[in-house]
Amino acid sequence: MKLIAGNWKMNGAGADLAEVAALRASLDETPAACRVAICPPATLIQRMAAAQTGGPVEIGAQDCRAEASGAYTGDISASMLVDAGATLVILGHSERRQGYGETDLLVSAKAEAALAAGLSPIVCVGETLAQREAGDAVEVVRKQVVNSLPLALAGQAFAVAYEPVWAIGTGLTPTLEQIEEVHRAVRAAMIERLGLAVAAVPILYGGSVKPDNARDILAVPEVGGALVGGASLKAKDFLGIIRAA
Ligand code: PGA
Repeated sequence: MKLIAGNWKMNGAGADLAEVAALRASLDETPAACRVAICPPATLIQRMAAAQTGGPVEIGAQDCRAEASGAYTGDISASMLVDAGATLVILGHSERRQGYGETDLLVSAKAEAALAAGLSPIVCVGETLAQREAGDAVEVVRKQVVNSLPLALAGQAFAVAYEPVWAIGTGLTPTLEQIEEVHRAVRAAMIERLGLAVAAVPILYGGSVKPDNARDILAVPEVGGALVGGASLKAKDFLGIIRAA
């Protein structure tokens, strides 16, 4: 079953809980043919998770600290996210790799911590425009996959999201052939790293997924879902993508 996950980034306040309520009402009436998740800012996780208990929308976080506790002002541990009601966590998003210097090694440590706390990680990878133009996209992504996935993920529930940095929030997307090429490379790298147990782990595509391109992208071989930024903020847009899955 495909996974459609929304990444609200630093958007959304209490008022936007109405969007999630509308989403749930629609999915209660006509169930989705896929798994649906929303990753709001940390401040909304508890309220959203409480409102979605037993419902069709899983609630996740956008990051966690690798350490379990300690003197890390401003940070949040994986077990705190579980305590708030999260079941998933996005890790290694390019905005964190670029804005906070997060390395593959750190992303791997975070994924291991998330798993230990009972969260299902969505590990993000993707090349920059310069890397794509230099012909290095597949190799860059292969290395990120191998180095960002801890061995502890073998046999566990997780996902990888391929998000070309140049496609995020730009309205640009790779061709369907380019998406297929990288997704096949991601699958091969996952198997290289973790063995055949990952054959069914979903590989999401992310970067300017909208209701009008979702159907084509989700039909590409090896695309097991989508990680959606801007178009996940409004129930109507997000539903358009969910119904395409
Ligand atoms: P976008 O963001 O859908 O707004 O391009 C995707 C993401 O950053 O996860």
